Amino acid sequence: MSDCIFCRIAAGEIPAKKLYEDEHVLAFHDINPVAPVHFLVIPKLHVPSMAELGPEHVEVMGQVMTTVARLARENGCGEGFRTIINTGRVGRQEVYHLHVHVLGGPDVLPAMLKR
Ligand code: AMP
Ligand code: ZN
Repeated sequence: MSDCIFCRIAAGEIPAKKLYEDEHVLAFHDINPVAPVHFLVIPKLHVPSMAELGPEHVEVMGQVMTTVARLARENGCGEGFRTIINTGRVGRQEVYHLHVHVLGGPDVLPAMLKR
């Protein structure tokens, strides 16, 4: 998927401020943060959106979600955070590579109302 910006980040073709990476999962800071803590966690596998998830994605999505939990703990979200997965046109998805937004910090609620 050479035309997918998040695949290109996963391939190292486009720079990103990476928080974590392993064989199947990548986490990086959102380029346009709307909260003091705002990063994205993606499967490296190209899945366009949450609507396309199937049984074959159970393992990698488990890895994505447990990575969300660990990185939230490690990045100052000990008192809680918000996760968002925008899906499709109605969900106002902009980048069609499945990603979990993690938003935290004291201003997280106003940031959420903006979206
Ligand atoms: P959405 O698809 O609506 O969940 O939003 C996509 C998110 O990806 C937005 O919050 C963008 O700021 C973010 N984004 C787009 N391009 C990049 C990039 N090159 N590096 C980091 N974040 C990005
Ligand atoms: Zn992709």
